[in-house]
Amino acid sequence: MATLPPSLIASLKEVVAFDAAAFEAVHATPQPATSIRLNPAKPVQALSLLEQDTQAIPWCSNGRYLSARPSFTMDPLFHAGGYYVQEASSMFLWHLLEQLIGSNTQLNVLDLCAAPGGKSTLLASYFTNGLLVSNEVIKSRANILEENLVKWGSENVVITNNDPSHFKSLSGFFDVVVVDAPCSGSGLFRKDPDAIKEWSLDNVALCAQRQQRILADVLPCLKTGGLLIYATCSYSKAENEAICDWLSTQQLHSKQVTVPTEWGIVATQSEQFGAYGYRFFPYLTKGEGFFIAAFEKSSHNEPVRWKEQKIPLANKQEQDAVEQLFSASNQWQLFKQQESIKLFPKAYFTHLQILAKHLYIKKAGIEIGGIKGKDLIPHHEWAMSTLPKTSFTHLEVDLPTAIAYLQKKAFTLTAPVGWTLLTYCSLPLGWVKVLPNRINNYYPNEWRILKS
Ligand code: SAM
Repeated sequence: MATLPPSLIASLKEVVAFDAAAFEAVHATPQPATSIRLNPAKPVQALSLLEQDTQAIPWCSNGRYLSARPSFTMDPLFHAGGYYVQEASSMFLWHLLEQLIGSNTQLNVLDLCAAPGGKSTLLASYFTNGLLVSNEVIKSRANILEENLVKWGSENVVITNNDPSHFKSLSGFFDVVVVDAPCSGSGLFRKDPDAIKEWSLDNVALCAQRQQRILADVLPCLKTGGLLIYATCSYSKAENEAICDWLSTQQLHSKQVTVPTEWGIVATQSEQFGAYGYRFFPYLTKGEGFFIAAFEKSSHNEPVRWKEQKIPLANKQEQDAVEQLFSASNQWQLFKQQESIKLFPKAYFTHLQILAKHLYIKKAGIEIGGIKGKDLIPHHEWAMSTLPKTSFTHLEVDLPTAIAYLQKKAFTLTAPVGWTLLTYCSLPLGWVKVLPNRINNYYPNEWRILKS
């Protein structure tokens, strides 16, 4: 582990509960805890490779600490979206939502800085009846975000690839905006010691400026009375309490939550306006460095009528083809994108048309498949979703077959000719087409396991 910069230690002296000796000691023997968050939409009886002692994470009901770090790559349930590997402190977002949102989850939610998808998968599990827009500005990072969200399987998610400034035109659209901001990253030094060399006070100052700019860009799209959640994995006051002080000047009211003292989470208040924030130190909690704060917007938005872009709907033949496989018409709107039939919650289809007018949509809803001749070729997104697939043969496979399927290597199966959904521990892995003399593997090439 590289030596911690003395200027970092000196700059944190004023931070509440900062203990330089404990901080240096915890960085000298870094053993970050491995933790996962289970996908409540894809419950499994046993955690296959994770068959080991797990311990509940007190601030998130789906969170578990693992006693050892397994090879997630070689666990089919990881690829099936059964869980997401996430640092425990960041799961505190769940506790914040439980306290500040409660059970009214039919809301429009924006996760502005979303890749690789830790907070977005958590938000998708929380807002099952809402609309989640998961945005990532960096194009290459939007791909991993998409992969993780497809595996998570939620139908009500829109992935966008936009700069924060592009959200200005959606004035008052969102009930909840989460900004998990790019930061100087000191909170993750134990997991990524190489980042220590990149750290400097100048970079902290640059990050703080960028955080303020991102927030200023996105505040107009938050509804009056809506909730802004701001988070970083930095320890620096400039990126945390100082930003909260600035937010307090933008007609935002700080929100406080109840936190049991035994969790070791430190409640802080900003210097000027006393805005509340919650700090995680690895010598006090079983988790890495993290900061989170919540605000309610009190300023009024000018009422606007958002423009819509018409999205072509599926035609009668396409609707009938889907209806033969499962009953989609009540809850879902079928629509077309090029030759593909896609599905989105009916309740939010107008919202999707508004988003399409203002943003670059990388993916929306679930791709069901495309029609070829009389056949509907099912898409991998459908396999990963929680939509019914009962009209297809399901075939439970063992661990070696599951891995061979995910590696796109040869394996044998006994199954009737036709489309078959392979499952492992009852969770769908993906499609194969069984032919009389061979099996066609439809697992996405770009996601196959490369490790042998
Ligand atoms: N929320 C993510 C999660 O839980 O998995 C982690 C987000 S990470 C802390 C910050 C993200 O902000 C990165 O994905 C990064 O690409 C993105 N980002 C970088 N510069 C940005 C900018 N100027 N505006 C918005 N997002 C930015």
